[in-house]
Amino acid sequence: MTSPCPHDRETAPPTAAQVERALDAAAASVAAAGDKLTRPRRRVLELLHVAGAPAKAYDLVATYHREARVATPATVYRALQFLETRGLVHRLSSLKAYVACDPKRLGSPAVFLLCDCCGFCRQIPSSGMASLGAAATAAGYEIERITLEGQGLCPACRPQRPGAARDPAPQTEPEAAAGVRAHKH
Ligand SMILES: [Zn+2]
Ligand SMILES: [Zn+2]
Repeated sequence: MTSPCPHDRETAPPTAAQVERALDAAAASVAAAGDKLTRPRRRVLELLHVAGAPAKAYDLVATYHREARVATPATVYRALQFLETRGLVHRLSSLKAYVACDPKRLGSPAVFLLCDCCGFCRQIPSSGMASLGAAATAAGYEIERITLEGQGLCPACRPQRPGAARDPAPQTEPEAAAGVRAHKH
């Protein structure tokens, strides 16, 4: 995502080996369910892992082929639909975009923190979400997937409090959790 964000942020794109591992894990989980990660499904998932950020379906259509050729939108949409049903990608309603599920968090409710300034998107552990699933079950619902989106500012874009040390470790979970609380209205 391009944005005029003036804040410095260090993001390391995933390595080719990481992407390959994620795709192999996805293929295995799809195979375990008796289905196949076909070429279009694998390619769309690959594009999302390589992007490492939410992407719009039409961007995926445009980048699907490496050469100057455009994929049929139906191919990409069908692949996205399949991947979403399998929990391999998540649709972020607020952005109307798709993002690859962190392989470490497959099968758990998906919780994302989105930065309104730079567009950074981060998936966090969903340990506190079990009760939500239980409440849905108690209400008689059969919930297939839960995706939560917390919007606000990432550590790089947050205004610094006077006297506060610049940028404590951005990976710490309490920091992220505080961000969610601050922006929940
Ligand atoms: Zn940001
Ligand atoms: Zn920013």
